[in-house]
Amino acid sequence: AGKAVGTGTIQYLTHEMDEQFTRKLQLERSLFTALEDHSLHLAYQPIINLKTKQVDGFEALLRWNHTALGSIPPDEFIPLAEEAALITPINNWVVLEACEQLAKWQERISDDLTMAINISPHQFQSDSFVRTLHHVVGQKKINPRFVTLEMTENIAILQTQRTVERMQLIKSLGFRLSIDDFGTGYSSLQYLRAFPIDELKIDKVFIDGIDSGENGLLDSIIQLGRNLNLNLVAEGVETASALRYLEATACQQMQGFIFSEPLSVTEIEERFGPSTPEI
Ligand code: C2E
Ligand code: MG
Ligand code: MG
Ligand code: MG
Repeated sequence: AGKAVGTGTIQYLTHEMDEQFTRKLQLERSLFTALEDHSLHLAYQPIINLKTKQVDGFEALLRWNHTALGSIPPDEFIPLAEEAALITPINNWVVLEACEQLAKWQERISDDLTMAINISPHQFQSDSFVRTLHHVVGQKKINPRFVTLEMTENIAILQTQRTVERMQLIKSLGFRLSIDDFGTGYSSLQYLRAFPIDELKIDKVFIDGIDSGENGLLDSIIQLGRNLNLNLVAEGVETASALRYLEATACQQMQGFIFSEPLSVTEIEERFGPSTPEI
């Protein structure tokens, strides 16, 4: 690389781009076997009831531990998986794994715990996803009303009759639907009327605004959600002052580092599981 260029700067940049490209290729190649070699796993972040401060449930968040490159954040590998058409098998695995975990925790911790699962727009279009959901319902280990499927507003770009019908089908199976990162997508609010959704997750940027005194948009979103009778979850709550502010609003739930980061199965069970009887 960098052949036939005059300056060192360009050669340096080209070298950087080479490295990025190599990393991308390496990641893409390993993603193909990530499911079989068990290098993917789920972390679970507690979702807290703002009134009672109890754990209402968890959000499943995908983690990838690459043998050579270490832990790769989902914001980096999920777009790669989408490009390589690997997102569907991965996401279907996430749905099954998270639902199985929920069944265990409903038995061991509390029978009304919920699970939130992130769904990519690609997955939403795929028939195997619907088959996976049917499978979950058919297994009868959990009631789908305890499972929330989160999708970003980008889904609204596909605001076709087909998308609406898909959502209605998923709703008719009993699952809950949620709009993730609400307020950050490039779409009109029109979809809020067309889509059968249960919940808005208010993006962290609006929560961060609380501490800098910019809460106009946050207040408006809360009002909007309230008017539409939607459950409201505040994402990325990090400070006590933001928490205090949210407690006085119509927001029902929150998640964020102030309460807990995403945790492993063991950590969840240590923190929230039944305490082991003393001998
Ligand atoms: P998301 O669904 O909006 O998830 C919330 C993200 O915010 C998570 O990042 C979480 O660790 C982080 N977070 C939570 N509380 C705080 C906080 O107080 N402060 C800060 N700074 N961050 C906080 P993560 O795990 O890196 O996931 C990033 C995104 O990757 C997710 O955003 C979601 O869009 C996507 N993703 C994760 N798992 C899956 C999955 O299984 N399938 C799909 N399709 N996407 C996934
Ligand atoms: Mg999410
Ligand atoms: Mg989010
Ligand atoms: Mg996000």
